[in-house]
Amino acid sequence: MGLDCLLVADNQVTTPYPVYPLGIAHLAGALEAAGHRPYQFDLLAHGGLKALARRLSASPPDLVALSIRNLDTVDSTAPDNFIPKTQETMALIRRLCRAPVVLGGPAFSIMPEAIMELFQADYGVVGEGEIILPWLADCLERGTPPHERIFRAKPADAPWQPVRYDSSIADYYLGWGGILNVQTKRGCPHRCAYCSYPGLEGNRLRFRDPGSVADDVMRITRDMGARYVFFTDAVFNDGQDHCLQVAEALIRSGNTTPWCAFFRPQNVSRDALKLFKRAGLVAMETGTDAAADQTLSALNKGFTFDDVIATNDLAASLGISCAHFIIFGGPDEDDGTVLEGLANLERLKKCVVFAFTGIRILPGTPIYERVLREGRLDASQSLLEPFFYFSPKIRRERLEHQIKAAWAGRIDRVYPCSIMDKRIRYLHERGHAGPMWDMLIRRPCTK
Ligand code: SF4
Repeated sequence: MGLDCLLVADNQVTTPYPVYPLGIAHLAGALEAAGHRPYQFDLLAHGGLKALARRLSASPPDLVALSIRNLDTVDSTAPDNFIPKTQETMALIRRLCRAPVVLGGPAFSIMPEAIMELFQADYGVVGEGEIILPWLADCLERGTPPHERIFRAKPADAPWQPVRYDSSIADYYLGWGGILNVQTKRGCPHRCAYCSYPGLEGNRLRFRDPGSVADDVMRITRDMGARYVFFTDAVFNDGQDHCLQVAEALIRSGNTTPWCAFFRPQNVSRDALKLFKRAGLVAMETGTDAAADQTLSALNKGFTFDDVIATNDLAASLGISCAHFIIFGGPDEDDGTVLEGLANLERLKKCVVFAFTGIRILPGTPIYERVLREGRLDASQSLLEPFFYFSPKIRRERLEHQIKAAWAGRIDRVYPCSIMDKRIRYLHERGHAGPMWDMLIRRPCTK
């Protein structure tokens, strides 16, 4: 008994590097635990639409779950809307298969009604699918399909099931940087103005057992050949005790696989960083987001640029590579904050800084309300097409020129970020593992 469930990861983005589809691995574990038979299909790893057509024709599933990861590039210098491509995937599934189609994934969850309307899918799951998808499969198997079409998951305390990494998918990603992903918790208690993440995962942190996290890291290293792990939590160093426990579990397991994670540049102690380093931390991606206190405050980041400098100095003193991601041109940016921000970024030593300009507006975020209030956007405008907010107090061309002029000749200051794509691809083709930006840092080795 049980249904044949085909989980399709539709992500076709390969820049700056392709990212392992962890969402369908979690769903596969949940479906299996509920007595169904999940099959994972990744468009990038398995050969695109032609391979999907062969798969659908050869063994038609009872249920298809289509996971949509990204709406677009979220980069105003290289905008690209991914939804039309995903519509092609949907059209192919409809043409070759009569099974109900369930939409899900982060991009779907941001604009579920608009995407349901566009795709004419049977069902959609907003948020995490580990509970709703098996329930839906049960209903379909019993012959009692629900009338409701869109289901909204409540962030569950214990969504964790064994994660079913798929080796045929992993092989592809290991060939492009050797990175596999692991999640240690869900949720984000912060409310940064532009971010949809707390809406997707909730504001409450929900932790995974540290031992299970370490087991996964050891397993994907041993069985699949992971050469690098990326912890995909919104903020790795939130929930201080838990992240320390994860590090301790990794050390106890004897982990030697290097890893990277997203960090919040605040309240990171030297002792904690030393422990993380012993557990394998080699690089931190820091959600700095703005470069002056005024713009940090407008984004509701909850820390100051002095916090950023302190965290960066600490990481540098321990030989941990640090990258900062900055968005210029957001709320309350003016000529003064641009100059102050560029000067502040000069104070960040032995690190890489990536800059973006303009903020991709997503519905349900605090900045969306502000943009409506400022009259910069009409509430009826569809945000499926990327829309970027620029502070009315700056001129976009001048801003771009200022950043480029300030960073001319520097390899550790990157704008626009798309210039890195080819370089990263080149290095991954030659067998290098990891996100590669750390190779831009010029610094002596420290202990
Ligand atoms: S930007 Fe990061 S820290 Fe801020 S709300 Fe989003 S996930 Fe949380």
